Amino acid sequence: MLARRGYRDITVLERMDEAEYLAEKDRTYVLGVFPRGRNALSSIGVDVDRMDREGVPEYMSNVTTLKPSDWSPFLVATKPSNVTALKRQSLVRMLYDHIHSDSGLSDAIHVVLGAEVATVDKPSSECVRVIYRDTRSGKEKMIDADLVIGCDGVNSKVVESMKRLDKTFRIHCLSNISSLAGVNDVRYKMLCLPSDLTVDYQPSSQPGPREKLRFLPSTVIILLSALRNRKLPFRLTSFGGPANQERVVLVLCTKDHPILGCNTGEEVLRCLEGNLPFVRNLREIVPMAEAELFAKRKIGRFSLPRYASTCHHGSRVLLMGDAIHSFPADIGQGVSSSLEDVQILSTILDATNDDWREALPRFTKERQPDCRALAVLSHRYKNVAREWTPAAYKLKLFADLLIKRLLSRLFPFAFSPSVMTSLTRADIKYSEMLRRDNATRRRIWAVGVVLAALLVRLVAPVVVTGAAGGLLGKMATF
Ligand SMILES: Cc1cc2nc3c(=O)[nH]c(=O)nc-3n(C[C@H](O)[C@H](O)[C@H](O)COP(=O)(O)OP(=O)(O)OC[C@H]3O[C@@H](n4cnc5c(N)ncnc54)[C@H](O)[C@@H]3O)c2cc1C
Repeated sequence: MLARRGYRDITVLERMDEAEYLAEKDRTYVLGVFPRGRNALSSIGVDVDRMDREGVPEYMSNVTTLKPSDWSPFLVATKPSNVTALKRQSLVRMLYDHIHSDSGLSDAIHVVLGAEVATVDKPSSECVRVIYRDTRSGKEKMIDADLVIGCDGVNSKVVESMKRLDKTFRIHCLSNISSLAGVNDVRYKMLCLPSDLTVDYQPSSQPGPREKLRFLPSTVIILLSALRNRKLPFRLTSFGGPANQERVVLVLCTKDHPILGCNTGEEVLRCLEGNLPFVRNLREIVPMAEAELFAKRKIGRFSLPRYASTCHHGSRVLLMGDAIHSFPADIGQGVSSSLEDVQILSTILDATNDDWREALPRFTKERQPDCRALAVLSHRYKNVAREWTPAAYKLKLFADLLIKRLLSRLFPFAFSPSVMTSLTRADIKYSEMLRRDNATRRRIWAVGVVLAALLVRLVAPVVVTGAAGGLLGKMATF
């Protein structure tokens, strides 16, 4: 975006080395890019059609769940969602190729891979100093810049430096460690399967004829564990993809699950067989080489809902993306909101004639309420996709969806539909979604209280009359 606006001498420092950053073989999770992310990409001239070619448009519209007792295909989306599923690395490579496809951009942007930022300092009002380590040589290096934009993710070093530069700077973390959520205990690991997948399925409870289930590359397959241990939930979600790419499988479990302790491929396969006995050809689908790689892969965990108290420091440091708003993957807004940050900055630069002194405070003023809203909404609607969520919580979410849908259709001027259905709309700001959600919740409570009061008024006389009648009857008998 900056290069398109005519800025030159832009340096991108990226910790990963070339092999990891642009890996040939994708070993990465799948992201849902929502319309606001798509709009942001197209506003900076990225070929969004490539996203559809390399990913799956209409994300989650075609899902099959394999359970120990049966399997069920279902269509989730009743109308187009415009959400595209894309591997994280495909998106990164798309942006990287975008820079290198245009000499105007590649001359302006210098990408340094294997450069791990350590600190950001402000030695004078004239510049900001970035100290980084060359991961190959281990040498420390330094750049003095006019502006630093920290988009180095949830464990941002620029955020760490902000805490030193600005004593009032805070990262607010919404505690998500409740009996209903347990996001803190959830871990994930990635597994890769062939895109053209045939599962030899046999229900584990009633052995009968096997079924060969052949899946389209774009179908999402969810596999639920046969070991119904509520304390050790386990689930595999195999995201769909284009025919020429491997399927990425997100293995979700709690931190104590035995799969995370497997050190060899054989242990991994045995653990998978124990959990998925209904997949009779498991060793064909997951070859030993892949199981060995799985055992070595890093264990991932999701961020708790967090947001920053400000997005900038003076006119020299700006934060974006997960550095200012991060949360578990439930509401699927991480990448889209990060891309939207860029679009918002661009609009503000237009309005301020690229005056950064004015633009940065305006960015915070406009975006910080959205950062907070994202954290609150993801906290409020956490764990929506996990089947081990307690039934009471699932019921609450379902009732929320249903009641809001009904009320918003009957009285659209007073009630809004559930946030989960508004997320695909790019025209509503997150802070506005939160405001509407709060107002709707308050009104639903008010309606509930009025209905309860009416019920008490209607029922009380009947109960009192009945009780009095009973008493009089007894007295008469006496
Ligand atoms: C399993 C999983 C599923 C997800 N699913 C979705 C989804 O469906 N939809 C969605 O929108 N979001 C999803 N997300 C969240 C999404 O990935 C993030 O919100 C998004 O990538 C944030 O972008 P970012 O650029 O701010 O940070 P990142 O994508 O984390 O990028 C930060 C970059 O900075 C680099 N870096 C970090 N530290 C340093 C350093 N010290 N020096 C130099 N470079 C550094 C990193 O290597 C990385 O390349 C998911 C996340 C996970 C883990």
